[in-house]
This record gives sequence, structure tokens and C-alpha cells, in this order.
Amino acid sequence: MLSLVIPIYNEEKLIDELVRRTVTSIESITDDYEIIFVDDGSTDKSMDELLRHRELNRKIKVLSLSKNFGHQAAYTAGLEHASGDIIGMMDGDLQDPPELIPQMFRKITEEDFDIVSGKRTGRRGHVGRNLSAILFHLIFRNIGDIKNMENYGNYSLMKRIAADALLAMKEKVRYLPGLRTFIGFKQGSVEYVRDDRFKGRPKMTIRKLFSLASDAIFSFSRFPIVFCLILGTIGTLVFMAAGIYVIIAKVSGFAIPGWSSTLLSIYFLGSIQLVFLGILGEYVFRNYKESQNRPLYFVKKFYDDLLEK
Ligand code: UDP
Ligand code: MG
Repeated sequence: MLSLVIPIYNEEKLIDELVRRTVTSIESITDDYEIIFVDDGSTDKSMDELLRHRELNRKIKVLSLSKNFGHQAAYTAGLEHASGDIIGMMDGDLQDPPELIPQMFRKITEEDFDIVSGKRTGRRGHVGRNLSAILFHLIFRNIGDIKNMENYGNYSLMKRIAADALLAMKEKVRYLPGLRTFIGFKQGSVEYVRDDRFKGRPKMTIRKLFSLASDAIFSFSRFPIVFCLILGTIGTLVFMAAGIYVIIAKVSGFAIPGWSSTLLSIYFLGSIQLVFLGILGEYVFRNYKESQNRPLYFVKKFYDDLLEK
């Protein structure tokens, strides 16, 4: 059985098109499937739309979360409720074309890959958003511990064994494409051009994208902390040299009334310390969040035949 997980947050306008294209694509390969729409606390008519489609096709299931938890949590919720042997993740805004599923499916069943991800060979759509994605991947490529992530997003199919491995990682701060690469197994890809979203405004606001990017960087890179260390060391060396200079100047009697240099060093050291405190604080905060150990999401209701009656 194939399970496809699709997170939905206020996408009422495109659900018809999404369901039509996804169902057509999946039914061209198998009749044994379920599509789990995870309603991530939508405040528009998305939920009604989804349930209406469920009335027509019982293979459509709806997992309704208690509020908006963000799309990485929504994907996790969907994966945890999926019962298929092959499990997929796909964005609900048709930026990931559902028509790619048969090709990914074949790679798993015929070529025996454990994970097949969509690899973007290009992007259509908003220049600013694409630019921010490219910038993020440029940084991540250079400082992340995981390589070759730049063209992969959430879009993927995987075998049960890989999905279980993904879900075995219980960390609260999640960047699923990174975790998916991290778990290993035999991974392949299928190339595609990422479309613009079909309708509506992006639901990942710049703020949410920024926090996703920092999740990725802080959980898959040691660079920020190494950066502190390097800059701190350089700063120490420079000021040791400066200290020696000051002493020599004092001893040989040409000490200048140098309040500007004093002020400069105070500014410089002060600002470095603030930056470092910020970075350290980020790690402490992340540690705190992990140790709070709160559930990633709460389910309001799972519309599934087994549970509904
Ligand atoms: N999404 C979600 N919760 C959120 C934000 C987004 O479930 O808090 C869903 C959204 O409905 C869409 C997918 O996640 O199906 C990707 O969102 P979007 O297209 O806004 O992100 P981007 O394309 O910028 O990555
Ligand atoms: Mg999108």
C-alpha cells in the first residue's frame, strides 16, 4: 500500500485541483493507497473541502491537528499515522507536481531504492523567495554537516523501513530533508522543475522560512559555535599583541593619551561578546526545548475508517 502525506494550511482554493491531480496520478499505478491530508490548524474552509472529498473517496483521510504547528510537525504527524508500505511526502500547493509520483514509485519498486526524493533542476515562481532559498542552500552547502542537500525538499517516497528510521528520531527541532539524508539507506532521486504554487499566497511566511533555515543550520552544523571559537581566538591574539604594544609604549615613555583606542577595543570586544552570547543562547534554548520534551503536535481528530465508527 502507498500512503501519501500532504500538509494543508489554509489552502481552500487549491484543494479541488490538488485532489484531482494527485488521485489521477496515484491511480495510474495502484488502487491500494491512502492520501493523508494533515490539516495544520487551517482557519479557512480547507477542512470542509477535505471532508467533502473524503465523502467521495474513502481512501482520502484527514488528520486534523488542534492548531497550527508548522509544516515540519504536520509532516511528522502524517507520517506517524500512515500505514502504507511505501510512504510519501508532498507539499499541498502543487509546487511538487503529483505527476512525478509514478516515476518515484517505479524507482522504489523496480530499482529497489529505499528512498527516492524529488531533485529540483530549476524553480519557477517568485524571484525573492527563490533567491532566499538559493542563499540558504549556499550557506548550508558550505557549513552544513550533510552534503548535497541543495536541491532536495520534502518531496519524496520511502519504504517503511526508512520512514520508521525517520520517525525514530525524536528531536523536537526538525528539518526533515536533513534527517532523511542523515538516516542513510539506498537513496535515489527523480529530477523535476519546481512549479510556482498553484493558487493562494505562500503559507510559509518569511519568518517561518527563516526559522526553518536556522533549524537546519543549528541542527546540522557545528559552524556557528566553531565560528565563535575562531573569532574569539583571533580577538585574543590581536589584543595580546596590542597589550604588548601598550606596555612597550608605557615603558619607553611615548605613551599617548589614547582614549580612542580604549573605546574602540571596548566596542569591539563588547560586540563580539554579544554575538557569541546570542549564538550560545541559541544552543541553550534548543537544549531547553529538547528537554521540555513536549509533543510535536496534538491531534483533534483522525478521519479514518478504522477510527471513525
Ligand atoms: N503548511 C503547513 N503549515 C504551515 C505552513 C505551511 O501545513 O504552518 C503547508 C502548506 O499548506 C503547503 C506546504 O506546507 O502545503 C508548503 O507550504 P508553502 O508552499 O507555503 O511553503 P514553501 O513552498 O514556501 O516551502
Ligand atoms: Mg510552496
